[in-house]
Amino acid sequence: MTMLAWTLAEFAALYGAVYAVNVAGYFLVCGAIDHVNRRNPERRIQKNRRGDKRIREEIRHSLKSIAVTAASLSIGIFAVSKGWTLFQVWPLTWWTAVPLFVLCMVLFDAWFYFGHRLLHTKLFYKYHLLHHRSVAPTVWSSDSIGLVDTAICQGFYAVVPIILPFPPQILIAHRVFDHVNGTFGHAGFEYFASKTARYPWPLLCATYHDLHHSEFKYNFANYFSVWDRLLGTAHPTYDRMVEAMEVDPAPIRLAGPPAPDLGRPAPRAAGTPAE
Ligand SMILES: [Zn+2]
Ligand SMILES: [Zn+2]
Repeated sequence: MTMLAWTLAEFAALYGAVYAVNVAGYFLVCGAIDHVNRRNPERRIQKNRRGDKRIREEIRHSLKSIAVTAASLSIGIFAVSKGWTLFQVWPLTWWTAVPLFVLCMVLFDAWFYFGHRLLHTKLFYKYHLLHHRSVAPTVWSSDSIGLVDTAICQGFYAVVPIILPFPPQILIAHRVFDHVNGTFGHAGFEYFASKTARYPWPLLCATYHDLHHSEFKYNFANYFSVWDRLLGTAHPTYDRMVEAMEVDPAPIRLAGPPAPDLGRPAPRAAGTPAE
């Protein structure tokens, strides 16, 4: 086997494993959050809208989109493990792990914000349209993204480590965190409304990205509201909505039978367009 063939075989094995783990993680995390959602119907964010009809389509698109995310992550991990980076990989110790992880989050958040703004321009929106078909997002919609859109937003893993050589463990931990965070962000249910999720704190809760899906032109950021607030794209009533949710919230039920979906909208009359 030539050197090149061996390297390609190594990469293919890594890619296969990364894709399989990401798909398993997708079903595991989505299934777990869906289980909680079914027991907490009063925590639904968009009371009068349901996205359930799109679930099969969302899963189908997710399996394709994860193939692109897995490729990006594999390229990053492979490049770092082979030393194909501009600088030597930063050492991972108990002291550097947390600062490196936070740095990765801050960089990814900026990458995502500006990539996402680009996808909302006339020229690029055609690539992002698929994700916005989920007006009432479900847990299954977090990865329901077009392939070019995914390459732009998740290309971070393939590009950034070559310039800033994060240890592979940090990239993997960040991907796991981003997946869980993204699934909660698309769950359609709010469990994280708190003082720290609104101004003057930079953090946010599920309502933030849910508003991006329902109202389209606000809240482009992923982890922090900083870029949206600085550049005037934060939703004008988000902070007040979160504050209202903090008052007397229903207890979160994790077990027991699913609760009835009381606020379910009335069935549409024949011929009324679907959402
Ligand atoms: Zn968008
Ligand atoms: Zn989304």
